[in-house]
Amino acid sequence: MSDYKELLEKAGEFHGDICGGIVMGTKLAIHGMENMGMTPGEKDKRLIVFTEIDRCISDAILSVTRTSMGKKSLKPMGYGKSAATFVNIETGEAIRVIDKKVNKDYPEEPVEERIERIAKTPGEELFDIQKVKVKIDPNDLQGKPLEVAECVECGEEVLDGKHHLRGGHAYCTSCYDKSYYEIIG
Ligand SMILES: [Zn+2]
Ligand SMILES: [Zn+2]
Repeated sequence: MSDYKELLEKAGEFHGDICGGIVMGTKLAIHGMENMGMTPGEKDKRLIVFTEIDRCISDAILSVTRTSMGKKSLKPMGYGKSAATFVNIETGEAIRVIDKKVNKDYPEEPVEERIERIAKTPGEELFDIQKVKVKIDPNDLQGKPLEVAECVECGEEVLDGKHHLRGGHAYCTSCYDKSYYEIIG
């Protein structure tokens, strides 16, 4: 329990404040790592985490699991769901941890009370766990880039096999498909 409070504190520091999402995300990450036989709060080179939402809980998951995008150990999926998958890349073992949304029963709960309640509640009561299989492309693992291509359209470099082939030529995603930006200058 003291562990939870300590990790919560750190996650709050990283996020900027301890909000409801940090309270749950910290607990979710602890539950996930413990179920993987790993130590919450400690970096584990075998771990890759897929988070399914770009909201508060993912900051707590990043903080507790010590994963990062730069180390290719944190994969943001943007599904808009309060869930995360923990993969052991050595054994292939993977679990998906899903928030059961128990907090819906406590709509007006102040965050201090939520912290105390969540600290005391066993993870099993708050989260469901699915055993899953995750196929990880070697390009998505840490290390030297396995593939480097140059887009024939914009001339920019594309790493990690993220290019697309058309007529034997390499294209970046922006040139091949649609882009999230529009060049105006
Ligand atoms: Zn927040
Ligand atoms: Zn391009």
